[in-house]
Amino acid sequence: MTTQFSEQLVSINPANGQEVGRVDVTSAAELDVIVAKAWQAYRKSGWKDLMPHQRADVLRAIADRLASEKESLAQLQMQDNGKPLSECRGMVDYAVGTFRYYASACETLETEVTPPRGQYVSFTVLEPYGVVAAITPWNSPIMNDATKVAPALAAGNAVILKPSEDSPLLAPELARIALAAGLPAGLLQVVQGHGADVGAALVAHEGVRMISFTGGTVTGRAIGRVAADRVVPVALELGGKSPHIVFDDANIEHAVAAVIAGIFGSAGQSCVAGSRVFVQRSIYQNVLEQIVARASSIRLAAPDSADIEMGPLSSLHHRERIEAFVARAREEGGQILCGGARPEGDEFVKGAYYLPTVIAGLGPDAVSCQEEAFGPVMVVLPFNDESELIEQANGTAFGLACGLWTEDFKKAWRVGRAIEAGSVWVNTYKQSVTSTPFGGFKSSGIGREKGLDGLRLYGQVKSLFFGLQQQPFPVSK
Ligand code: NDP
Repeated sequence: MTTQFSEQLVSINPANGQEVGRVDVTSAAELDVIVAKAWQAYRKSGWKDLMPHQRADVLRAIADRLASEKESLAQLQMQDNGKPLSECRGMVDYAVGTFRYYASACETLETEVTPPRGQYVSFTVLEPYGVVAAITPWNSPIMNDATKVAPALAAGNAVILKPSEDSPLLAPELARIALAAGLPAGLLQVVQGHGADVGAALVAHEGVRMISFTGGTVTGRAIGRVAADRVVPVALELGGKSPHIVFDDANIEHAVAAVIAGIFGSAGQSCVAGSRVFVQRSIYQNVLEQIVARASSIRLAAPDSADIEMGPLSSLHHRERIEAFVARAREEGGQILCGGARPEGDEFVKGAYYLPTVIAGLGPDAVSCQEEAFGPVMVVLPFNDESELIEQANGTAFGLACGLWTEDFKKAWRVGRAIEAGSVWVNTYKQSVTSTPFGGFKSSGIGREKGLDGLRLYGQVKSLFFGLQQQPFPVSK
């Protein structure tokens, strides 16, 4: 990795190409100092030894400060990654709620008194790992950072947070706010730089005892290999190619609205984007026409516009990836029913805008139906019956999420259970709450964030036995 202290990352606003801010890249030597400082804070600050309700007080204070800075944080994230301001405000709210939730979970989490099989009392406690690495992607920085940092701190750890080089500005703000709220110095530190060097060095660092990663599946596999070699636990929240299913007995108006929101919200830059839309054949043509009509009318605008439905992509180079994805879909024989191009108009020239894109005519095994685009691109596929649907919906390497629309609750139960995904939404989509576990099946990940599972993720179970025997131990029984 680089050792130049002078190297900087430049955050570019993808709506207009203007510089938003700069951060210094962390050098190898600095990383060593940061890890040592984290261990020092972990061992000496007393954080891990506080009563849970005392740690909870600090987490609540962080939440309060985040809430009081909501507007400036939302504005900063909007400029850093181009998401609509309304979504950025929602993500700050989410971060606030996450710190509040883990404050409550921290002080109410109970461990077990286990059934004895001898003259002793036995029970479990949850011990922190020590220093945890939290690595996050660019699409929802403040939300993803909070989802890792809040439970990791609640469990008593020190955290080293590495944001994406494409959205580096929110993580330092979270660290600043946490410190001001009373978190001991050194317990939350940020490293900056390219994933391939700074991120990889963090993962490989012998001082890091647990790794929590959100990002792409290719990176997740690489991190998993290093973690396996080092024998450190790893939580991986990875990509998806989530099926969004419309049965012929569905409320079509609601289903179409959700299908549109499920992929074009956040310009498709969401791990749970419903990017593979399955429509039962008897209603396929009708629903497809409604989808195309609605997608074609989506209001594209600058992220701070009041009247916006979709903003730019997160960067110009990410738009190039989306363009390459659509070009390949064309080569595979996909029909681009709308979008498939940059929008026209002076207001879009400098930004990373791309039109909402609907593709049909591909088989379920086409590469475009198998690989994640992470942009505003959906493929629409017809299906005949439930068994064919389940086979096709499960027929990718991923298993993150699924939406299904039907008025038949027994069918919803059957299909919901048969789908290989960590989250299934019936007659709704993209519900993501801090109190409900979230994670992937198959190549979409390992482990569950959010909810109580998300707190247990950052602790290791220790079993304690207190002997009650009246006599000395015999050598053998
Ligand atoms: P990447 O996997 O490229 O990057 C994610 C993070 O990992 C970034 O901070 C990146 O740094 C860092 N990184 C990259 N290479 C390494 C490495 N070798 N070692 C350690 N860290 C590394 O993903 P994207 O940023 O492109 O994010 C998009 C992906 O994230 C999508 O696939 C999406 O599905 C997934 N995602 C999953 C979510 C989930 O909860 N399941 C939620 C949100 C996104 P840098 O950017 O500086 O290279």
